[in-house]
Amino acid sequence: MGHILRVSRLIKAYWGYIAQGILVSIVITIFGLIMPYLTKLLIDEVFPNQNWGLLYLVLAATFILSVFNGVVHMMRDYFQLCVGINMGLDIRCKFYQHLIVQDVAFFDSRETGEVLSRFGDLDDSIGGTVGLINQVVMDTLALLIFPAVLFYFNWQLALISLTMFPFNIFFMIFFGKFLAISEKELTVKGAGLAAKNYETFSGIRTILAMGLETLCFHKYRRAVTDIRNIERKLELSKSLLGFTTSFLKAVSSLAYTWYGWTQILEGNLTLGSFLAFTMYIVYLHEPLNGIVSLIKDIKVLKVHTERFFDIYDRIPLIKNGPDTMELTEELSGNIEFHNVTFGYTADQFVLNNIDITIVDGQVTALVGKSGQGKTTLANLIPRFYDPVEGYVTIGKWDVRQLNLQSLRRQVGFVQQEPFLFFGTIFENIALDRTDVTPWQVQEAAKIAFADGFIQELPEGYNTQVGERGIQLSQGQKQRIVLARILLLDTPILILDEATSALDAETESKIFRNLIEIRNGQSTIIISHRLSAIMNADRIIVLHNGYIVEEGRHPDLIKQGNLYAQLYATNTIEESKSG
Ligand code: ADP
Ligand code: MG
Repeated sequence: MGHILRVSRLIKAYWGYIAQGILVSIVITIFGLIMPYLTKLLIDEVFPNQNWGLLYLVLAATFILSVFNGVVHMMRDYFQLCVGINMGLDIRCKFYQHLIVQDVAFFDSRETGEVLSRFGDLDDSIGGTVGLINQVVMDTLALLIFPAVLFYFNWQLALISLTMFPFNIFFMIFFGKFLAISEKELTVKGAGLAAKNYETFSGIRTILAMGLETLCFHKYRRAVTDIRNIERKLELSKSLLGFTTSFLKAVSSLAYTWYGWTQILEGNLTLGSFLAFTMYIVYLHEPLNGIVSLIKDIKVLKVHTERFFDIYDRIPLIKNGPDTMELTEELSGNIEFHNVTFGYTADQFVLNNIDITIVDGQVTALVGKSGQGKTTLANLIPRFYDPVEGYVTIGKWDVRQLNLQSLRRQVGFVQQEPFLFFGTIFENIALDRTDVTPWQVQEAAKIAFADGFIQELPEGYNTQVGERGIQLSQGQKQRIVLARILLLDTPILILDEATSALDAETESKIFRNLIEIRNGQSTIIISHRLSAIMNADRIIVLHNGYIVEEGRHPDLIKQGNLYAQLYATNTIEESKSG
């Protein structure tokens, strides 16, 4: 129940509209009460007395009522649809807004497809809750009005027709448990399947290259079979429930018909009254069934709301605190790590007691074998993660004091994996900034060594790239992304293996370009190609999450430790590949 209340609070702005819809439904129901009475008039008054006048009156009333009913119905449905659509869009936007500010750790630890499937849970939660509110109000009202009418007409018949109700509830509780369990399983498995699907098609190149199609297909089939088995179980429970309900109905109907006709034959009841009564009972079936299936519906709804709130309630680990400062001036000063320790999990540290100063305005290179913590260390500067111990400062600021977005705007970060949006190359470099000129875009591309190949494309800077666009090589994508970040001209620039797919010569040229244009601005370069970063002002060597050496290239070579070894093997490899 708590979850339903929470969803209701979430859609507070729409309470008025929902109430209006319910009010109209009540009007429809009350008008519905007139129809059986008209039937009774036809049979008990018009027929035996040959009352033509009353006949025309009843016909006119029936016609007007039907048309009125149709119009009100149509208006209510259209109105509810509009409200439903607006409400859905509203909450979706809220959810999106909430999702998009989650921290990197959240996205690192979850499957994208699974996260996306929560939008489905959102729809089910909202739709389900509104439906439930509508139903509870309408059914409760109907259950107050209809039985009263029935008892007023004929209390014995009313009693007989209502005896099966408690049995129905009992069975619904009994089966409801199974239904909820299966529904939960079904939702979880469905989300798993969505995740698997997403993974397959985002990694389709790897799958095709390695001939994994059959394996994928079998995995998919297994998942689908799993789902089908649960669905079968669910359907079985539902059919059994349906059967029990109709059996109870048959018993009650038998008793009711027997008693009713006995009364008619004995002359205690008119045929018209009996038929009208029967029609009222049919009206009663819907709210009765509704109230009974409520037990099941609430359980199923809970599954979806829990999954929705599971994400909606998540507070990002990294967020703007109550007293964070919006950074208005340009970031400047040294980047300092103060005894920083960090681990992705509590029991294993990836960085240990890091105590370094990255001097303002210098080009600093971060080197080390793969998996030693270079990317992790760089991630702490724009606060993709926060240290477990220690802290990071830039100039006079602790990074945690700064408004996240304003901090990240000033830290250009080119990541290992280039990502292109669907759009033109120009749009990919300029993003949606309106203050950049084509000339500036081209200048950035030139520094990133991208202008050359872009000019050779048939449509140049207007070529469509991204998922459905032209296929570019990894090195070309990397250069476009580099141009994008260079254009931002941020006071701090981090390149994390940003040009790894390029040949050594181009990479060296790009770095030389960079050093020239970023005169006086801090640049951090992570590269496994040591020849390219030889000229850095300072080189920091990471090993096993510790800083083991730092200094300039010639000094480190002279010391003859890890850097010298790495450099030796690196140059041998390069001369081989070159
Ligand atoms: P490098 O950039 O030097 O190759 P990383 O900083 O990427 O190394 O990784 C350092 C260590 O942290 C590795 O052992 C890696 O497996 C682990 N690691 C990296 N990213 C994550 C993550 N998102 N979750 C858990 N462990 C991670
Ligand atoms: Mg890395």
